[in-house]
Amino acid sequence: MNLMEIGEFAFIENLRKKYQPNDLDILKGIGDDTAVFLKENDTALLLTTDMFIENIHFRISDISPEDLGFKSLSVNLSDIAAMGGIPKNVFVSLAIPEKISYEFINNFYRGMDELIKQFNLSLIGGDTNFSRNDFVINIVITGVAKKDEILYRDGAKVKDKILVTGYLGDSSCGLDVCNGKLKFNSNYEKYFRNALIRPKPQINEGKIIAESKIANSMIDLSDGIASDLRHICLQSGVGAVIFENLIPYSDFMKDISRSKNVSALDYALYGGEDYCLLVTVSPECKNELYDVFSSKINTPLFEIGEIVKGDNIEIVLNSGERKVISKMGFQHF
Ligand code: ADP
Ligand code: MG
Repeated sequence: MNLMEIGEFAFIENLRKKYQPNDLDILKGIGDDTAVFLKENDTALLLTTDMFIENIHFRISDISPEDLGFKSLSVNLSDIAAMGGIPKNVFVSLAIPEKISYEFINNFYRGMDELIKQFNLSLIGGDTNFSRNDFVINIVITGVAKKDEILYRDGAKVKDKILVTGYLGDSSCGLDVCNGKLKFNSNYEKYFRNALIRPKPQINEGKIIAESKIANSMIDLSDGIASDLRHICLQSGVGAVIFENLIPYSDFMKDISRSKNVSALDYALYGGEDYCLLVTVSPECKNELYDVFSSKINTPLFEIGEIVKGDNIEIVLNSGERKVISKMGFQHF
C-alpha cells in the first residue's frame, strides 16, 4: 500500500497504538510534541527530534546558512515550548553533500549559536555523514519540566476556550514569497520571509502557561490549525469550533489580503510553520490566564474558538456559514 493512502496522521497513530511504552518511567511515548520520561520525584525529562531536509523543508537558494542553523534548532525548541519545558541539551546530526563548504557549515553553526546562547543550551553530540545530493539535518533536543506542569495534547475539555499566542499565516505567506508565487514591495517581502526563516521559539510563553497550572492542553502550531487543532481534538476525544473573525493576523497580512488575491484564512488553517502555541483553557480560568500572561510577557493571546462535544472541527465564516474543516494542514504524505 502507498503511504499516501494511509496519510501521515494515521501512520503515526498506528505506530502509537503498536508501540505503547512498557516502562513506567515513560510518561508519554509517541503522540505528543515531545516524549516525556520521569526523572526524579517531580521532574521530567523531555526529548524530541526533527529532521530538516533540503528541497523538502528548505532550498539552499532561499535561506542563508546562519538562518538555516537558526531555524533547524528553533523548530525543535518549539516542541519543548509546547510542553511548557525548559530546553537543555542538543545533538546535531548532519548528512553533508559535496556542494556544502566548510564556511557554510561554520555559518550554519553560528546561526544555531544564537539560540544556544539565548537559552543557555549545551551542544553535547551528534553525527556527521556524507550525502550524495541533499543536505539533511537532524536535531535531537532534551528539556526539563515539572511533572505536574507539563501540558499534553490530550487534556482539552468541552467548553475550553482555544487561544493562540501569535499572528497566524505569515510564515506560509513567506514560503509563497520565496517560491516566487507572490510579489510585494521589499518591506513586505522581508517581513514575510523573515517569519518563515527566523521563527522565534516561544519557550518563555510555554513556561508561563505551564506554570500557571490553569491550561488544559497545548501544542505548537507547526502544520496549520487544521492539523494541529486536530491533534488536540483527536487525542482529547473532543471537537472544536473556531471563528474566522477571531483569527489574528499581522497588519502586513491584513493589508495584503485586502489588496492582493491572498487568502489569509487558508494560510492560517493549512499553511503552518507559525511556531506560536495553541492552548486550551476552561472559560472560568481564561481571564486569569490573560492576566498572568500580560503581567509576565509582551506576547499577545488571542481567543479563536472553543472546544465542543463530538469529533469535528468547524469554522464559522464571516458570512455566517458554518463549515466542517475536513482538509488537513501540512502533511508529508
Ligand atoms: P511535531 O510536529 O510536533 O514535531 P510530529 O507530527 O512530527 O510532531 O510527531 C508526532 C509524534 O509522532 C511525536 O511523538 C513523534 O515522536 C512521533 N513520530 C513521528 N514519526 C515517527 C516515527 N517514524 N516513528 C516513531 N514515532 C514517530
Ligand atoms: Mg510540535
